Amino acid sequence: METKIFKATKDDLNILKEASELLNSGKLVAFPTETVYGLGANAYDSEACKSIFSAKGRPSDNPLIVHVSKPEDAENIAYTCPLYYELAKAFMPGPLTVILPKKDIIPSEVTAGLDTVAIRCPKNEVANKLIEVSGIPIAAPSANSSGKPSPTSAKHVYDDLNGKIPMILDGGDSEFGVESTVITIKDDVITILRPGSVTPKMLEGVSKKVQIASAVKEELKAGEKALSPGMKYKHYAPKASLYLIDDTYINFIEFVKEKQKTENCGVMCYDEEISSFENKNLLPVGEEKNIKKQTKKLFNLLRKADDIGVDTVYAHLPKDDGESLAIYNRMIRACAHRVIGGKNGED
Ligand code: AMP
Ligand code: MG
Repeated sequence: METKIFKATKDDLNILKEASELLNSGKLVAFPTETVYGLGANAYDSEACKSIFSAKGRPSDNPLIVHVSKPEDAENIAYTCPLYYELAKAFMPGPLTVILPKKDIIPSEVTAGLDTVAIRCPKNEVANKLIEVSGIPIAAPSANSSGKPSPTSAKHVYDDLNGKIPMILDGGDSEFGVESTVITIKDDVITILRPGSVTPKMLEGVSKKVQIASAVKEELKAGEKALSPGMKYKHYAPKASLYLIDDTYINFIEFVKEKQKTENCGVMCYDEEISSFENKNLLPVGEEKNIKKQTKKLFNLLRKADDIGVDTVYAHLPKDDGESLAIYNRMIRACAHRVIGGKNGED
């Protein structure tokens, strides 16, 4: 299959109509969102949704997020509640996904057999217009091959899915660069299943009761059931072995400089540290304090590590709170919890 890439804005109606026709005839279309690129299918069409799993190589027990163009369109597919609308008022359209009880119209392939469905209303104008023009809710996971870092550009999608899907809409680099914050709500309690650019503190502006699921920071224990099935998979990982260093900056620099002498290693360092290292395979993440920039660059850097062909990558252990929690969650899983230093000892 030939994979066509079209540059698109919300005003390119001919291109959006072509994409909508593909979606309405059971085909897949990759499109930009403000978080990462999505791989879309008609959420009412179980066969189309099944083909998402085969194109990505995604395990069938990992449910998809369903995208709507207006928060109230959730009524067609889920049972909403007042807190959903309070959250929608604060964060939609935007990078927040809310899990709600599903209506029968959503096929079980979309929700991996769960009786809930994940709902998101994207802010990206191409994504939002595409859903509106298509007239259907669009089921869309990230448009990467399963297990690889999520795509934040049309090129990343092409690298992973060329020949497997008919169309990619290119809307430029993703604004945020990590996937949406996924939450469940029960009465007035919000539980974060996956951290994203909508932070715990921002959610506390809507409900005082915000908790973080343990799988966000920790490995699932043997036999423990994941509240969000996606959290049980190794994810976001480059081919190189990633290690996170939990130590002072001086010790980080010393440790990595030693490694550079003997290993073909990449270094995810802060911009301020660049001059401290031998100028080889450096993957600068941004200034230390600029978490937004670090978030935006994260997946591109993990992909770059593979492009430059290093065997190992060393990075700082990110902070596990606030805006940085989303980076921590992706990095700790990309490195399969391999942390060196701090309370973990040498490895
Ligand atoms: P992705 O589409 O690749 O961004 O992944 C979607 C994430 O949302 C995965 O971690 C899923 O496990 C999670 N998810 C989707 N639907 C549900 C649901 N009904 N209940 C819990 N988590 C969900
Ligand atoms: Mg994904």
